[in-house]
Amino acid sequence: MVTEYVLKIHSRCDLACDHCYVYEHADQSWLRKPRAIGGATVRWAARRIAEHAAAHGLGGIRVVLHGGEPLLLGAAKLREVLAVLRSRLDPVCRLDLRLHTNGVLLDETLCALFDEYAVRVGVSLDGDRAANDRHRRFADGRSSHPHVRRALELLRRPEYRHLYAGLLCTVDPANDPIAVYEALLAESPPSLDLLLPHATWDHPPPRPGGGTPYADWLGRVHARWASDGRPVAIRLFDSMLSAASGGPSLGESVGLDPVNLLVIETDGGWEQADSLKTAFDGAPETGLNVRTHAVDAVAALPGPAARRGGLAALCETCRSCEVVNVCGGGLYAHRYRTGSGFANPSVYCPDLKALAGLVVPDAGPADRAHTLSPAAFDSLARGPGDPAAVAALAQAGLSLTRALVAHVASGLPDGAGELEQAAREGLALLTRVDLERPAAVAEVLAHPCTAVWASRCLRPPRAARATLDLAHLAGIAASAALHAGMEAELPLPVRDGSLHLPALGVLRLGRRPGRTIRVSLSSRGLFAAGRRVTGQDPRWLPVRSAAFGDHTVLVDDLDAFRGRSGWRPAGRLTGSHWEGWRTCLDGAGKRLEQDTPAYARALGAGLRAVVPLRPGPPRRHRAGGLRHPLGAVGLPPPGSGGLEVALLREFQIAKLDALTTLHGLVESTSEAPGRILREAYARLAQADLWRVTPGADARDRFGGLSAGIREAIGALTASGSLTPHGVRFVAGMRATVDAWAGD
Ligand code: SF4
Ligand code: SF4
Repeated sequence: MVTEYVLKIHSRCDLACDHCYVYEHADQSWLRKPRAIGGATVRWAARRIAEHAAAHGLGGIRVVLHGGEPLLLGAAKLREVLAVLRSRLDPVCRLDLRLHTNGVLLDETLCALFDEYAVRVGVSLDGDRAANDRHRRFADGRSSHPHVRRALELLRRPEYRHLYAGLLCTVDPANDPIAVYEALLAESPPSLDLLLPHATWDHPPPRPGGGTPYADWLGRVHARWASDGRPVAIRLFDSMLSAASGGPSLGESVGLDPVNLLVIETDGGWEQADSLKTAFDGAPETGLNVRTHAVDAVAALPGPAARRGGLAALCETCRSCEVVNVCGGGLYAHRYRTGSGFANPSVYCPDLKALAGLVVPDAGPADRAHTLSPAAFDSLARGPGDPAAVAALAQAGLSLTRALVAHVASGLPDGAGELEQAAREGLALLTRVDLERPAAVAEVLAHPCTAVWASRCLRPPRAARATLDLAHLAGIAASAALHAGMEAELPLPVRDGSLHLPALGVLRLGRRPGRTIRVSLSSRGLFAAGRRVTGQDPRWLPVRSAAFGDHTVLVDDLDAFRGRSGWRPAGRLTGSHWEGWRTCLDGAGKRLEQDTPAYARALGAGLRAVVPLRPGPPRRHRAGGLRHPLGAVGLPPPGSGGLEVALLREFQIAKLDALTTLHGLVESTSEAPGRILREAYARLAQADLWRVTPGADARDRFGGLSAGIREAIGALTASGSLTPHGVRFVAGMRATVDAWAGD
């Protein structure tokens, strides 16, 4: 399925940037293309896109108007293009319409037009004046910098701010990274794209002093950005963090997600990614045209299919690379070499490897967002993990959630509908709370269901309920504001007849409540329909907490996003069911504190919520899904076996998943070793409990579990699939089993 289209509406440009891949690289097909797209071609393009979206039931697609310089088309013709796209595609699915420009021609007339047709605008800017002037000039040598800054001033005006999609900056190590970062940030963009200049093995990027200048440059920006508290979404860094955690790649530059994008040229020709222009003349061409061929026919061609091939489509070197999950072999075009084609690592391989090490914490130099000390790592390997190690895992999970939420926020729809409005007001409130009371935002983002929500919003193709899901951002913001005791007013989306406030509760509404309800928030609580919602209000269902030994945990049987791969969440617990859970959780906590105090302390440091599941065997965990941040476990109803065994097992798996976001433990080319490691690590905790439980049955269980762990350790060691961290981790597990034998 194709979910994103780049529509070239003008093939010439008013700038003459010397790093431009359209005019200055191998492909010179622009000379053969019509200057401007024709009306008939636009209608054919819209028809093909609509047919494809309808045939595949796509909830949403993105169309990016591009060039050359798209604004050279002029306001009148642009209006015609936008009218065709909106009238043909809006009835079929949600259309995210964007335009990428150099900004030179952007004026109020065009901004008003983009407002009318809800077009979000991305602008190219390489940084401060010195950096931008290095490449981005007019043909006569004049600077484009003042023109771009004037365009950005327009986009920052309150009436056009919602049109501002972000900035695209091409990296040049000759520029000062901090000056570039500060100049870009000063334009208040909602998101930043830092792009490696297009290059191939035939035409490698300049590396005057050798080494990894691109990673060094990006590493300095990353360090500053992290220490600034990530004030803006930077797609390259967020993509790496997300991909490392099994989440979406957020773009085609890194990660293993399929690339579902096609280009339509001004002559109606279907093309592959624009970046391929850097490989050789004619590289992006498919020979097919919108007049003669449907999207499915283009998508089935070997070129586009190869970009959806994930790990299997990479060369041997990349497949066996320890950071392949994060890097994904880099941008497809950057792998090209005459002779071997695209079956190579990226020409930026050393930089990408070094950058992956910087952005996704791992052993090595400082400057990492999150690290585990060797002692903390070893404490986790031996079984429970000390509370500081578990807290570090939770903190890494919070960073991942922040990155995912930032990307959801950077792609909010512009439509005039109630849900779109709720999402935008939600983002504004969340930003305000984050500035004034960041701890309150952290509290809500740390709720494990927030990461599930963000991940669902980012996964293409957008589901039919995508806009309702995006509007949930308002519920997240409202929860944060209530935590902070701040005053606010905003619309909340109605889902299944209720308003959802994550980690707080659900307000059930009467019949036919509409799509959103406007609420007020203050230090006195929530006001809906002019009435204060109190704890006694029969419409209000709070998220309850239960004692868990010396701690308390949320029992979340309400959150709309509490389900995840392999879980079948139960509905609201009532009466004796709730009492049963409450009693059993407290009993389990007390028993663990007495029998396995190290595991009890680890649970106390990292467990925030329990999600009650329906009875019955769990569904099989789907490989490749998001490794959810630490914090929640799904548990079946308390039965004769007691909750403590299930709790220990599920929390071990949650810790291992969180640890894997920091350190790769097994080679990603095979799923089996990962499964064996998970099972063995879960058994390590269970065996520890049976070890101290009196009775023959417990002794037998302990014996069976410890034998199984030994067998798994042997299989993992013999498989040769463990990374150096994996070898160390398994050695820690072995030390625990050996210590039992010595007892
Ligand atoms: S503005 Fe864009 S299309 Fe125009 S010359 Fe510069 S890089 Fe190329
Ligand atoms: S770092 Fe190099 S070898 Fe590893 S996946 Fe990326 S391009 Fe391939």
